[in-house]
Amino acid sequence: MGRPLVAIFTGAGISTDSGIPDFRGPQGVWTLNPEHEKLATIEYYMTDPDVRRRSWQMRRETYARDPRPNAAHRAIAELDSSGVMALRVITQNTDGLHQLAGLPARKVLELHGTSRSVVCTACGARTSTEDAFARLDAGEPDPPCLECGGILKTATVMFGQNLDSSVLSEAASIARACTVFFAVGSSLQVYPAAGLVAMAADSGARLVIVNAEPTPYDPVADEVVREPIGDALPRLLGELTS
Ligand SMILES: [Zn+2]
Repeated sequence: MGRPLVAIFTGAGISTDSGIPDFRGPQGVWTLNPEHEKLATIEYYMTDPDVRRRSWQMRRETYARDPRPNAAHRAIAELDSSGVMALRVITQNTDGLHQLAGLPARKVLELHGTSRSVVCTACGARTSTEDAFARLDAGEPDPPCLECGGILKTATVMFGQNLDSSVLSEAASIARACTVFFAVGSSLQVYPAAGLVAMAADSGARLVIVNAEPTPYDPVADEVVREPIGDALPRLLGELTS
């Protein structure tokens, strides 16, 4: 027998304490405001330079505050470094805070990609978001690719783009194989979150939901926790190793 596998699914709620707004959830910044949603919709992004300028500006403002991992991110990284459990994180977030907290990148599946990298939509060249921000700060509001002049975007999955199928299938494998599945800071109302929770529950995993608001999966969960994530997660993960 290998070590028990703990799967931790995280949504926007885990990062709001770090100053990252909830963009795409049911109550998210983008969802509630169609003008904002355009900033993250590939069709508008590719065709409207003004959308790109505003999209870059919004990213710049979010990361200018230098968001840091909070107690919940740190508790996950600490559980992993304890070595007691095999651990994988499946996240809807693009903020890279799990990795910044010390969790090895190979243990984090980013369903919506990452805003820490930039990709050229024409040639595929990948560069760092820090470099793009430096160009913004130097007066390029919509910096083109330095290799080919193509349109750059963060390496995130925008509305209108498909999720990476290999990432999705790996997430499904983890959901089916885990012994415990934590669903943290997600309303679990949208694909693929809902499907992964259902897979884990159907496969017999213990299901623990940590979210301020009710979710459709509360009735089938083994435990539902409403307290703030930064308090709840360190306690719950601590119980796994004690
Ligand atoms: Zn290019």
